[in-house]
Amino acid sequence: MAKIKIAQYWGAGCGGCDVALLDIDEKILGVAEIADIAFWPIAVDTKLKDVEAMPDGYITATLYNGAIRNSENEHVAKLLRKKSAIIVSFGSCACYGGVPGLANLTSAKEVLEYVYTKTPSSDQQGAKDPVFPQHETHTKYGDLELPVLYNTVKTLDQVIDVDYYMPGCPPTTNLINQFLGIVENHVKNGAPLPPKGAMIASNKTLCDECTRKKTVKQIDAVHSAFEVDIDPQKCMLEQGVICLGPATRAGCGAKCLEGNQPCRGCMGPTDQVQDQGGSMLSALASIYKVQDKETQMSEEDILKIMTQVKDPMGTFYCYTMPKSIIKRSVKERPRVKKEAAP
Ligand code: SF4
Ligand code: SF4
Ligand code: SF4
Repeated sequence: MAKIKIAQYWGAGCGGCDVALLDIDEKILGVAEIADIAFWPIAVDTKLKDVEAMPDGYITATLYNGAIRNSENEHVAKLLRKKSAIIVSFGSCACYGGVPGLANLTSAKEVLEYVYTKTPSSDQQGAKDPVFPQHETHTKYGDLELPVLYNTVKTLDQVIDVDYYMPGCPPTTNLINQFLGIVENHVKNGAPLPPKGAMIASNKTLCDECTRKKTVKQIDAVHSAFEVDIDPQKCMLEQGVICLGPATRAGCGAKCLEGNQPCRGCMGPTDQVQDQGGSMLSALASIYKVQDKETQMSEEDILKIMTQVKDPMGTFYCYTMPKSIIKRSVKERPRVKKEAAP
């Protein structure tokens, strides 16, 4: 039996997803039995020009991790789409934008200004004419080119057609093994692949998977995890600690809860939910002890409650900003005064 070809690529991410694939222990031998690596920059010395020379559809399955943050991420995603029969959006950054997606709260210009003139590691603090990375630089030794940093971070499926999704930061070995098992069964026994667009993960919420004791949820204050002594047996939300379990897809085995930390939502929302942050806000509002008093509350009272949530965007949209309904922050455009009719 001819071996299948697999590829793995890393866009705007931290590299954790690449390492997760190496974490599958002895199952990696099963992968080696059925597959050759066609392209995997951190593990195999194949160059982009080698991929360009491959016939279209030559790679059986590509796992693309990381968000689309710059022109190179997008170029390689489009190239791999052309060369691959199957593309898997691998990990939260590729599926939802992930932590790099929080850059959508600002602009590329502001990010560069901060990094190159305001951080302690930059020697340009206070410089009159700071130097910023340029897309093209001409030198006497030749022309140099850097990718263009985009103003808006995108998910993989916002730039190419995606066949399957595997969320997680990074995806767990269970999910990776599940997918490899599906591919192996397809290659060896001709078993059908999942329908296009399938999510390789559970469609239940994390609360269904979490074994903590749940009773009636009703809180009168929100606390950061470090401010309270968290009971490791009891639901976090019932202790006033924001846990994104009700708005998050199951499949990680409630990993953070095992470490007595609240869920931050890296598995993204279930199929029933479009906007994870909005869904969590609504869950939180429903357990806050104010429902009956709502109409009598002043704006000041409401603000007092709202300010209990430190870093609301980082709390509710830590992994899903580019996939949310709003996608990025929008500065109010200056109103144009209407000319008086002549
Ligand atoms: S999903 Fe998590 S582990 Fe994977 S690249 Fe993004 S930040 Fe890293
Ligand atoms: S809110 Fe968090 S702690 Fe509570 S049941 Fe859901 S996942 Fe578990
Ligand atoms: S508990 Fe939440 S944040 Fe932690 S791994 Fe699971 S889905 Fe991700």
